[in-house]
Amino acid sequence: MAHILEVRNLRAGYGEFEVLRDINIHVDKGEIVAIVGPNGAGKTTLLRTIMGYTTVYSGSVLFKGIDITRRKVHERVAMGLMLVPEGRGLFPNLTVEENLLIGAYLEKNPKKISERLETVYSIFPRLRERRSQLAGSLSGGEAQMLAIGRGLMSSPDLLMIDEMSLGLAPKLVLSLFDMVVKLNREHGITLVIVEQHVKNSLEISNRGYVLENGRIVLEGDSRQLLGNEMLKKAYLIY
Ligand code: ATP
Repeated sequence: MAHILEVRNLRAGYGEFEVLRDINIHVDKGEIVAIVGPNGAGKTTLLRTIMGYTTVYSGSVLFKGIDITRRKVHERVAMGLMLVPEGRGLFPNLTVEENLLIGAYLEKNPKKISERLETVYSIFPRLRERRSQLAGSLSGGEAQMLAIGRGLMSSPDLLMIDEMSLGLAPKLVLSLFDMVVKLNREHGITLVIVEQHVKNSLEISNRGYVLENGRIVLEGDSRQLLGNEMLKKAYLIY
């Protein structure tokens, strides 16, 4: 099967500061792929590079078989790639609905925009209830739903979510993981998740990559990774 996303021999970073070295990963259509690793390993940088926000020194990023390494961010969005950033990147002084509409900025057809809004509200009924509320007044869990909802407004085929559970209570974290599975199974979205919750993310994903010091040090089927002794020790999975 052709990969929806392929990263080949990638070296990337910020200006002169190299973060990622020799990265090779792929994602197949319909998969959930988890990227885990310690703080500062380069997980966020990898997602940002796939989206087009960093400096690529060598190697390439292919999306749907097309080399997008030098493409602009909005071109990648138009092709069906989207990133929900760490920290959520919401506009606190705009309402929930205004934030969602920003996610559909490339779509000019009002009918399509309202259909997407309806889809997002059906996935997150809480956002419909709060549609006129300022984003800055949402709870942490609601804000994360809004960030994911805004990502969905571009109608992505591949959605990357960076640290969605950061700072949230355990119960909320579990419901967000359930929601990711639902997006995958019921809405056909391929997902890449970067997570601190290693065990949860491997439990819901098909495959995983472990990033350390800017390199992939381990990869494989998520079930195998869950049983890996090195990972168990490093991330206290038991
Ligand atoms: P965390 O789990 O803490 O978010 P991470 O695995 O996502 O970590 P990155 O945020 O990708 O790691 O950071 C990798 C390295 O890149 C770190 O050394 C970090 O200081 C550096 N870095 C991150 N953002 C920038 C930036 N905008 N400019 C320069 N260096 C950066």
